Amino acid sequence: MRQLALATALATTLLSAGALAQAPQDGAGSLGARISPDSLRGHLSYLSSDLLEGRATPSRGLDLAAEYIAAQFRRAGLEPAGDDGYFQTANWQYAQRQPGDLALTVNAGGATLNVPHGGASAGFLDPLSLAATPAVFMSWKAALEDGGAANGKVLVVPAAPVPGAAATLQKQLKSKPALILMVDRERRHSRSGDGWLIDPEQPVVKGAPPVVLLHAADAAAALEKGGATVAASVKPPQVRPVKLRNVVGLLRGSDPQLKNTYVLLSAHYDHLGIRDGEIYNGANDDASGTVAVIETAAALAAEKERPKRSIVFIALWGEELGLLGSRYYGRHPVFPVKDTVANLNLEQVGRTDDSEGPQVASVTMTGFDYSNVSDYLRKAGEQTGVRLWKHPKNSDMYFARSDNQSLADLGVPSHTLAVAFGFGDYHGKDDTWDKIDYDNMARVTRTVALALRNIANDSSKPAWTSVPNAAKYLEASRQLHGGK
Ligand SMILES: [Zn+2]
Repeated sequence: MRQLALATALATTLLSAGALAQAPQDGAGSLGARISPDSLRGHLSYLSSDLLEGRATPSRGLDLAAEYIAAQFRRAGLEPAGDDGYFQTANWQYAQRQPGDLALTVNAGGATLNVPHGGASAGFLDPLSLAATPAVFMSWKAALEDGGAANGKVLVVPAAPVPGAAATLQKQLKSKPALILMVDRERRHSRSGDGWLIDPEQPVVKGAPPVVLLHAADAAAALEKGGATVAASVKPPQVRPVKLRNVVGLLRGSDPQLKNTYVLLSAHYDHLGIRDGEIYNGANDDASGTVAVIETAAALAAEKERPKRSIVFIALWGEELGLLGSRYYGRHPVFPVKDTVANLNLEQVGRTDDSEGPQVASVTMTGFDYSNVSDYLRKAGEQTGVRLWKHPKNSDMYFARSDNQSLADLGVPSHTLAVAFGFGDYHGKDDTWDKIDYDNMARVTRTVALALRNIANDSSKPAWTSVPNAAKYLEASRQLHGGK
């Protein structure tokens, strides 16, 4: 991997040698000069160090990262914009079951299968005790159409097609099964197996059948064949309070009117944590985006002239668990959403070794045609020598896959910027800081900083376009601005 990194670095140098020889800041002026590869490397090597244990939500490593980001915002001189200094605190709970608290027995064809610890998981709080009960296997469609064949039985269904689908099934089911067993061999919907977050604002579905995820392949196969019975015993988990924190800093705008409007620059600082004893450092995903936010904040705050609009810098928790931190911000905006003119969200801005081929001196944007935000980036890129490009498939496909979605849903033009969508160590244990191309990352960060400032200085604000895929965001924007 070192050789590969060297080759990439060499390619970067060759491609950018001309521009670098003339202007070390890539034509981005004093703002660009304040953004340096060494500074980026320094921040990134800490945030993705083993000490932070992969920054799982929630974890001590995540808290250390939050404190570090707050310290950098403080150093830059940003105004604290949270409820607790720079922290916007979500007071949630974390539920955890002990080994042996969940026991499942499958009887099929005279054989008894005791599902071992880790072979099943459940995210409910009430205790459950179920004597041997006949199981019936159904597709999702059949289960939703079923008028009562599953009544009093254990309903076995395949893995949920999308996260959150289990709750929908619970609500829409016409039958009354004693238990829903969801076959989830690949652990697609249970991140840790033994712990889960509880959002006190989410209503609990009362009287809905409990859902247990089944990971054990042999038990799943026996149940899919039919004619099995299931017995279950589930003890209540231990529940403790947790504080989850977005880190929010403000650079106050200079224009008497426009300073009451906001441009957001965001990135998620959480990652996957420790799995099977291995630390998943998440250097590119998304310590890189977080560090680009820190660096941009420091560079813009050090400029003599303040941008006209205010700029909000946010590091978000819980993206990897389903955009939780940004959804939280959307429900509890620190600054009015209707006065928020755009959100640039950064993901994977460090590595150039895209699975589809190297991406040097270039940056791509999701929902490319959905708004005119691309205009600001293209213009900034002309100054820094960074090409803005549209990925033919991923542009639309990845739009909903990161935190920009949360504000887009509320009507704010929001996009995710990335250098490489796919890379070899994506969500792997080897996404480490030594594989980042820091020279390239500095150029991309300069581009982001310039674009952000251009948006902040423009008296007209970014707007959604009329492309069909952006229709619902355009509508949300109309609602947000009073139907206009
Ligand atoms: Zn990410």
